[in-house]
Amino acid sequence: MDTPPVPGKRQSAAARPEPWSSFVESDPEKMARIVMKFGGTSVADIGRIENAARRVQREVEAGHEVAVVVSAMAGVTNQLVGYVQETSKIYDAREYDAIVASGEQVTAGLMALRLQEMGISARSWLGWQIPIRTNEVHGKARIEDIDGSEIVRRFGEGQVAVVAGFQGVSPNNRIATLGRGGSDTSAVAVAAALKADRCDIYTDVDGVYTTDPRIVPKARKIEKISHEEMLEMASLGAKVLQTRSVEIAMNHGVRLQVLSSFEDKPGTLVVDEEEIVEQQVVSGIAYSRDEAKITLVKVADKPGVAANIFGPLTDASINVDMIVQSVSPDGERTDMTFTVARTDLDRAVQVLKSNHDKIGYESLLSDGDVVKISVIGVGMRSHAGVAQTMFRTLAEKGINIQVISTSEIKISTLVAEEYAELAMRALHTAYGLDAA
Ligand code: ASP
Ligand code: MG
Repeated sequence: MDTPPVPGKRQSAAARPEPWSSFVESDPEKMARIVMKFGGTSVADIGRIENAARRVQREVEAGHEVAVVVSAMAGVTNQLVGYVQETSKIYDAREYDAIVASGEQVTAGLMALRLQEMGISARSWLGWQIPIRTNEVHGKARIEDIDGSEIVRRFGEGQVAVVAGFQGVSPNNRIATLGRGGSDTSAVAVAAALKADRCDIYTDVDGVYTTDPRIVPKARKIEKISHEEMLEMASLGAKVLQTRSVEIAMNHGVRLQVLSSFEDKPGTLVVDEEEIVEQQVVSGIAYSRDEAKITLVKVADKPGVAANIFGPLTDASINVDMIVQSVSPDGERTDMTFTVARTDLDRAVQVLKSNHDKIGYESLLSDGDVVKISVIGVGMRSHAGVAQTMFRTLAEKGINIQVISTSEIKISTLVAEEYAELAMRALHTAYGLDAA
């Protein structure tokens, strides 16, 4: 996001940073306007589509205006991506988009049909029909503008809009997709454009947890979390929402709810920070196995060395995440340690080796058996000692911290993969997050 949101303030339509073309104020006399998004497992077969449609029916019968956003049936997008890769090694991203966007077209049509069978007026909308306009970055496009006026007009006639998620139309009039998991982003962007009162994300878990319950059995469901914390959780490894969708929700003040489509109970609300009364210091613990560590041993301790190391990596489109440079014992040479995405490790090593003479280092060590563990909480801004608790807890368990990085509301540490579970359980307890 280019323009940061005004802290602690819901922004007025005029101040919104993105040019959504058609804000239509919802009539306060009327019932709510709701976007309901169903993920792949929630529409995995005809029976589940019917189950989801019954949830839509409930909201319609309560008098609400409803836009439904659907994913492809579970597994379908993977299958389509597989077809592309079988056909063409270096493929045309515009054709990739034409192919992989088709999964959502099927579910949107089926959902509209199912609703019609229930006596509800409904129609499907593909990205280009609305239109949802994107930039030209096929395969990972960003939404630039949504014209919701026709959908809103039809709300007035009692019609439900069923929107195919994950897709839009690019400036050259081709179908564009929003990156894997992109139907979350479709839903939030549609909610922003329609000025919906809320955006409910139906999925196969019942909310956002303090950490991954498969690793920490004492993980708790979070009742309310701020957009900012959720953004960190999503980008640091929690897979429940696409990161971009949380960014849009934050910038447009969209109230999100993550909830189960299989159980009737409230999920997790993702809201503005000011709405959260009892703020925990640490709200959650995220982990990511997607990192790998590289150490350049004995590089010269002089100006320009960091530029010589990271320049070639940038040129190869390899992102560096955490960095430490140790103090040099002799004032001449030092070690430089940093992390890259695990999928980029081999390429990064290659790039560094081919730049060996320019950089000048004694040896190169690489390690893919690491995890990044992050504690997240807006309460860190006002509480001291949060980092110390993390370091002490890990030390007590004999876990060595290899790299540290921090931001205003998170502290990340890199540890050996074999300690991941131990570290997460210990931290979960140390920050008072364990379920009773
Ligand atoms: N069907 C797309 C995917 O699997 C988009 C989504 O489900 O969010 O990535
Ligand atoms: Mg998803």
